[in-house]
Amino acid sequence: MANSLQSEQLAGGGPVGQFGAIVIGAGVSGLYQLHRLRQLGLSVRCLEDGRGVGGTWYWNRYPGCRFDSESETYGYSFSKELLQEWDWKEHYSGQPENERYLNYVADKFDLRRDIQFDSRVTSAVYDARANRWEVQLESGQRMRTQFLVAAVGILSARYIPPFEGIDSFKGASYHTSRWPKEEIDLTGKRVAVIGTGATAVQLIPIIAKKVGHLTVFQRTPNYCAPLRNSLVDAETQRRFKATYPEIHKKCRETPAAFIHEFDPRCALEVSPEERLALYEELWARPGFSKWLANFRDIMTDRAANEDFAEFVRNKIRARVKDPVVAEKLVPKDHPFGSKRVPLETEYYEAYNRDNVLLVDVRETPIERITSKGIKTSDREYEFDVIIYATGFDAITGALTRIDIRGEGGQTLKDKWANGLRTYLGLQTAGFPNFFIATNSAFCNYTVCAEMLVEWISECIRYIREQGYSRIAPTPQAEEAWVAHAAEMASQTLLSDAKSWFVGANIPGKARTLLLYANTAPAYRAKCAEVATRGYEGFVLQ
Ligand SMILES: Cc1cc2nc3c(=O)[nH]c(=O)nc-3n(C[C@H](O)[C@H](O)[C@H](O)COP(=O)(O)OP(=O)(O)OC[C@H]3O[C@@H](n4cnc5c(N)ncnc54)[C@H](O)[C@@H]3O)c2cc1C
Repeated sequence: MANSLQSEQLAGGGPVGQFGAIVIGAGVSGLYQLHRLRQLGLSVRCLEDGRGVGGTWYWNRYPGCRFDSESETYGYSFSKELLQEWDWKEHYSGQPENERYLNYVADKFDLRRDIQFDSRVTSAVYDARANRWEVQLESGQRMRTQFLVAAVGILSARYIPPFEGIDSFKGASYHTSRWPKEEIDLTGKRVAVIGTGATAVQLIPIIAKKVGHLTVFQRTPNYCAPLRNSLVDAETQRRFKATYPEIHKKCRETPAAFIHEFDPRCALEVSPEERLALYEELWARPGFSKWLANFRDIMTDRAANEDFAEFVRNKIRARVKDPVVAEKLVPKDHPFGSKRVPLETEYYEAYNRDNVLLVDVRETPIERITSKGIKTSDREYEFDVIIYATGFDAITGALTRIDIRGEGGQTLKDKWANGLRTYLGLQTAGFPNFFIATNSAFCNYTVCAEMLVEWISECIRYIREQGYSRIAPTPQAEEAWVAHAAEMASQTLLSDAKSWFVGANIPGKARTLLLYANTAPAYRAKCAEVATRGYEGFVLQ
């Protein structure tokens, strides 16, 4: 009965679709998960809130949105044919092209026939007696499934701070991750951007050239580094296609699954001249090399980190003409790389324009949104448009916004009230056959997403072939994993800033490092080892 929808009439309800597996989300992870589960002969339905495929690359249509990963490393590696067919036009590909790519993938593998768009999942309740998940959509539609895979994304639950008066604003408001499909004409307008994270850093230099006046409301300055994007020429395109196996092998071997490799030396072991030479070389290179090809102790040794942080601060100071504005843009309260490093193109130069004003909301906090604009502690600013670049309830948000109830009616939200609790990031005790296909390893996303999807697919194949019907981790295995993840977290500087990495951007969210701070190869090896040992730490029934 592969790929077919069976329906049954439940007393008092409408027809309830029955599936072998339901995948929530049609982004990079969900699309591949659908493809792999269909290959097992399961009837699969993919439920997607949006009206198209792409996830991150469907929703984030703001001007300037693009990869900070190298395009050739971000694309899927699972299909040789796809790799040969697709041409990346830019080294750091932009949103329109990324969305086209994922649509191409959906068409090539005929995925659309099993995707239901405009379908927001509001609840998923485990029925232990039947060993089925009952999934409900916002529309009221219900479905039942044996396996439930949440590919809901780590940065998909958008967040807007609860500013007082937010609905009173008479102009137009947009969140960057719900940017409309139709073009917004900002020409000559008075525009506010709230937030200066990776998204705002991509957006600001582009709209600064169009708007009448731009006011940027900044809470925390970031260590932004030059992206240095360029077009992929024909020779490079040929090289990508000829060397994909080597590119993917390298990505599988480096700590964060990028083509960048850490310098094997410790920063303070070498002379100041040698250090500066490496810093300058990294600065001239494109992409995350400044973060991921730096000295190997940059994210573990505070003094090493501070040495590079000061280098970055001086780079910022050199680019901003007004020294008072420059100092506001210089981060001083957290280590380099402890927040997601935004990669930029002419970001700092935007603040040299006469039509751009920087407001530091630590000095003059936003008090409320008014009908005319934004009122801070010292004055009211009037705007035609307010852009919220205020980010996401990261990693756990898209999961806890669904009412997911496991054995005994326990909700995932309650279970995770004091922090993320999983085994391998893949399952959580008390929620049988519920798989989490959102990658929380510190990793070039698609590389780890492919690994997770393949692990989940292989696990489901194993369960079916061995005559089992359900799998869930033991509480002990989960406890040990949570302790191990905390131990890994304590060895890095990743937890040292008030960032979305630790849930600090969401009031009331537990403060724990939400990213798994081990290397991607170590993570992959651990997941593989658990599977090889007959799913050690899991109960199969
Ligand atoms: C602007 C931006 C730039 C990024 N750049 C990079 C980069 O350069 N490199 C990198 O590695 N990563 C980057 N990321 C991270 C990015 O999120 C991942 O690379 C990747 O796209 C995630 O894919 P996904 O399929 O796991 O999740 P998503 O792409 O987020 O897709 C999840 C999907 O699930 C759907 N969904 C969620 N909840 C529900 C629900 N209840 N019901 C139905 N559907 C639901 C959403 O609508 C969404 O379409 C970036 C993220 C953002 C926001």
